[in-house]
Parts: sequence; C-alpha cells; structure tokens
Amino acid sequence: MQLPPDRLAEFLGALGDIPVETAPHILKQKSRDFFWYSPILTGQLEGRIADAVASPRDEADVLRIAELCVRYGVPLTPRGAGTGNYGQAVPLSGGLVLDMSSLDMIGPITNGVVRVGAGAKMRAIEDSVRVQRWELRMFPSTVRTATIGGFIAGGSGGVGSINFGMLNQRGNIPAVRVVTAESSPRVLELRGDAVNQVHHAYGTNGIITELEVALAPAQDWVQVGVTFPDFARLTRFCQALAEADGIVKRLITAIQAPTPGRMRALPFAVAPNASLGLMLIAGGSMEPFHDLTAQHGGDMAYLATPSEAVAKRVTPIYEFTWNHTTLQMLKVDRTITYLQTRFPADGGLDLVHALARELAGEVLMHLEFVRVNGRLLCSGLPLVRYTTPERLNEIIAIFDAHGVFVANPHTYVLEDGGKKETDAAQAAFKGAADPFGLLNPGKMRGAPAPLPLPA
Ligand code: FAD
Repeated sequence: MQLPPDRLAEFLGALGDIPVETAPHILKQKSRDFFWYSPILTGQLEGRIADAVASPRDEADVLRIAELCVRYGVPLTPRGAGTGNYGQAVPLSGGLVLDMSSLDMIGPITNGVVRVGAGAKMRAIEDSVRVQRWELRMFPSTVRTATIGGFIAGGSGGVGSINFGMLNQRGNIPAVRVVTAESSPRVLELRGDAVNQVHHAYGTNGIITELEVALAPAQDWVQVGVTFPDFARLTRFCQALAEADGIVKRLITAIQAPTPGRMRALPFAVAPNASLGLMLIAGGSMEPFHDLTAQHGGDMAYLATPSEAVAKRVTPIYEFTWNHTTLQMLKVDRTITYLQTRFPADGGLDLVHALARELAGEVLMHLEFVRVNGRLLCSGLPLVRYTTPERLNEIIAIFDAHGVFVANPHTYVLEDGGKKETDAAQAAFKGAADPFGLLNPGKMRGAPAPLPLPA
C-alpha cells in the first residue's frame, strides 16, 4: 500500500523502542523469499516491498505491534528466515514485515516435547535437544537457516517424514501460541487438532510466538549415496528400503539421471547416466542396509559417518534433497523449474515411470519417500524444463489426469497451491483472529470479508 510519509512516521513513532528498519536495502531483502524458483511468481511478485520491518523482542512487542497495526490500518506480514518458495512472506500490500527471529527461546524438554520461540532456528533446536539425546522428528532441507515458526506456518514436511509423516499429522506439533490482530489483540494457545488452523496458513490468521515440538530419540545418522544405472531399479530399492521396518532411516530420496551428475556441489562424483539415492541411515542399521544395497545391485557412491561428516566439512547430503535438489539444479540451469506432487500409495511407482516416459525430455523425476497415515508413498518434486505458462499448466493437468496430486508451487494463493480449500474451521478462525484482514493480505482466498477498521 505504501503508507503516506506522515502517516508512516506517526505509526513508526508509536512503535516506540521496538527495533524498526526503513533502509531501502533492508526493506527489499526482507520483502523477498525464494519465489524466484518460479518464473510465474517472479513476474508477479518482483517489486512488492514493505514500508518498514519491525523486529519484536518478545511477545509483548508482538501484541503492541498488532494493536498499532489495527489502529493505523497497516498490513502485517510475519517473517521467519524468508526461505519459503511461494512468495508466502512477500508483503503484497506493503505495510509492516514482522521479523520474528529474535523470539528464539529454546526451552526445556518435557516428555520428549520441547517448547520453543517461533523465531528459533531449526538447526539451533536440533543441536540443543541432541545434547539430551533427542532430535527433531522432521525438518526442511533449509534447516540451517529456517525458523520453526516459518516451518509451521509455511512448510509441510521434510527429512524425517519417512517416519513421522507430514507436519500436520496428529502429535507432531502439540501446541502453538498465537497473537491475534484484533483491536485488543489476544494471545491464544491452540492445542491438539486446533493447531492445524494456523499450520500452513502463511501467517494469515495469527502471529505464532511460541510452540511445542514433539521430538524423537536421537540417532547417529550415516549419510549415504547409492547409484544405479537405471532409475526404475533405484526406485525399487528405495521402496524396499522404505518397507524394511528393521532398518532405521531418516531420509530416502531418489533422483533420476542425469540430474545427479550435474549437481556440482555434491561431495562425490556421479556418472552422467547414473540415478542417485540419498539416504540417512542409523549407524546401527548399516549392516542390513549394505545387504539390501547388494541385493538390489546398487553401487555405494558415498558414505560419511557423523564424525567423518564433521571432519570433512562437506555440504550435508540433505542439502541435495527435498527442494534443495531444485536449488542445486537452478545453480547450473536457470531454464528449469519444478512441481510438487504426491503419488498414490498403490501403484505410485508405476505412475512415476509412466509419467517419466510420457514427459521425457521435459520432466526429470525426483522422489522423496514419506509415510502418511501409516502408508508409504512418494512425494515428487520433479524438475520441469520451463517453456511457457500454458505448457506448465498442461504438464500439471497431465499429472492430475493420472491421479497424481499436484500442490502447484507457482501460486501465492493458499487454495491454488497445496491447500485446495480453506476449511470452515480455518475460515472462522481467520475471521475471529484477523477481523480487519490485515494479516498477510491477499494470500487466503477463502478469508471472510474484512470488517471496516475501527474509527
Ligand atoms: P518464511 O519463509 O519466513 O515464512 C514462511 C511463511 O510463514 C510465510 O507466509 C510467513 O508469513 C509465515 N510465518 C513466518 N513466521 C511466522 C510466525 N512466527 N507466525 C506466523 N506466520 C509466520 N519446505 C518444507 O516443508 N520442506 C522442505 O524440505 C523444504 N525444503 C526447501 C529447500 C529450499 C532450498 C528452499 C528454498 C525452501 C524449502 N522449503 C521446504 C520451504 C521453506 O524453506 C520451509 O518451509 C521453511 O521452514 C520456512 O521457514 P522460514 O523461517 O524461512 O519461513
């Protein structure tokens, strides 16, 4: 919206001692995320810039900011580390970006659950709980930079989803504390299923200040790369590994040739015609893992124990998985983009190979194996050679026609991406928590009509 200068000055003055930035380079930097993965979003979102960035130091600051935003009619977009992919953190209507990174408390662990501030970095949480032999149940491949609040509000799953499903599976996030954007903002503690009202809602219906995160017992993970001359054999191996309940794992990724051979930053060489599996396997499961690899005829291309990985200081292999696979390829080829898909549990691999054949030359497969509601299936982040928006939509339609779920990553509107529809509970919560439509406006189509601002 770009506030008139005198109104902006008055609003910023009212914020008092809360740290605020208005330097143009900071505004530009903190108004962006990784939407540039998408040629479509790039055209739509370049140049959308906040009027100011505020950095609350605690929940009291968040409450004060929310109240003043309502009083002055200023749109408010929460932000973690800005690693989202769909322009989620871009302030479409300008206003205030709320940098949550100072709310970085990491509390004690109780019964395998840790209480943390929304701005805590996920890597810091993982390192902290590991001291007591716990670890995160799942993290995005951006774990080194992303915040836990941003993951809950904008992410979906990641490394660990092979064991614990996606974030929204009951029990993964026991509680979330949010601040509303009402005339007199409230602090709400959502527990149990109510957490899903704010999960993957892009901060449109509450500002998360704190949350509880369920943990898993820590393991010493061995990083492994296995190659196959044939993608179908690799996927069969990955499926067998996913089904091998006695082998403890945290990650199973399958990347079709020639992508792995082109990923320059990989800490090992891969032949151009080799397809690559990347895995995290518990140290105690390496012997049966070697047996399974030999049975399937895979070549062990890389192996790093935790101490070797630290000593070698190489990029961890999870930074070649999930949406890092796309990033690694964008570093060498800016003509590609990607899709986010989910193959059905029954016959999913047949569909993977049928689509790989049908779209050969345009689409290269990249699969992440996950367990959802007790069933093993593949999430796909296929790389797509981008030509035109029309062809991209045709490719999405081809996946759809085969019964593959597509969470379109080329839109910033929640319902046009993975959400598909805003359910009644989420819409009602939005109406109550953000009656004036000031929280990250423009992202939730199913939002109730905003009330007029108070006089
Ligand atoms: P941001 O990008 O800052 O914010 C994300 C959304 O949450 C925005 O809508 C923002 O407004 C909102 N938000 C942030 N903080 C709050 C808060 N405190 N209260 C309310 N709303 C808030 N995602 C996955 O799920 N799995 C992956 O494996 C994965 N891999 C990725 C790899 C790459 C290379 C990239 C670029 C992205 C990847 N992502 C992945 C997307 C993204 O990194 C994650 O979702 C990450 O957790 C977002 O955290 P963030 O702190 O950067 O959030």
